[in-house]
Amino acid sequence: MDTGIYRVKPGEKRIDLGAWDTDDDGGLARDVADVESLKLTERIAQLQERLYAEGKRSVLVVLQAMDGAGKDSTIKSVFGPLNPQGLSLTSFKAPCGHERAHDFLWRVHAHTPSRGYIGLFNRSHYEDVLVVRVKNLVQESIWKKRYKHIVNFEELLVDEGTAVVKFYLHVSRDYQRERLQKRLDDPAKHWKFEPNDLTERALWKDYREAFEVAVAKTSTKDAPWYIIPAEKRWFRNWLVAKIMVETLESMDIQLPKPDFDPKSIVIK
Ligand code: AMP
Ligand code: MG
Repeated sequence: MDTGIYRVKPGEKRIDLGAWDTDDDGGLARDVADVESLKLTERIAQLQERLYAEGKRSVLVVLQAMDGAGKDSTIKSVFGPLNPQGLSLTSFKAPCGHERAHDFLWRVHAHTPSRGYIGLFNRSHYEDVLVVRVKNLVQESIWKKRYKHIVNFEELLVDEGTAVVKFYLHVSRDYQRERLQKRLDDPAKHWKFEPNDLTERALWKDYREAFEVAVAKTSTKDAPWYIIPAEKRWFRNWLVAKIMVETLESMDIQLPKPDFDPKSIVIK
């Protein structure tokens, strides 16, 4: 399958998320996808080890979505099986006092993956043009310029050896209701529910519009956005894993050549 159909082409002013299916399964059967997902995850793990061994480049994965769309579960399913030693995960919350004392990228840059690592952003610098825009947390004259700064920032990362891939987990408003309701129904999930989630849910249209603009303005050839249909969770996992494999394979990662002759060494 060509995963390119889920990639947002560069140069759009705004995309229409309504035209992107939320429960697409790419024509795959679930049992086939589940088996393939296991293989894809193994392949990511192999490539992760090569990346670590090469020690020259890194991969940054950005995950954005509405509440309840499955960011946490995607992380667990697709990235959970990887070696924690070559993985860095950052979950971005609202910036605290000293973080707010700097430009919006300051705290983000500090968490980009070191060479050899896959870095995962659960939410990211995109919140600074999403929640910030929707809730007027800074003046429009400031957030308006951030798209350009984000594109330049990601270009810097790419130029210095970080592959950047961005996933938007796409779900419908009805699906979000179901997921939030589950958090209320299951006492073991109450901790995940925040009454504030409903305030955000009421702003669904505004968030969606903010996403449509942000994704269009910042999907570049080297730091593309993928819109992942996320209601069939098995397909979501398959697609994210598939794109991860493609991204890592396109890097043509090389194991370092030893600076000794292994054949000449005898271990007594
Ligand atoms: P959760 O992902 O459920 O733990 O929620 C994290 C919260 O942090 C969300 O409500 C985000 O909107 C908020 N958040 C993350 N980054 C920012 C940011 N840069 N500015 C304001 N709020 C943010
Ligand atoms: Mg939450």
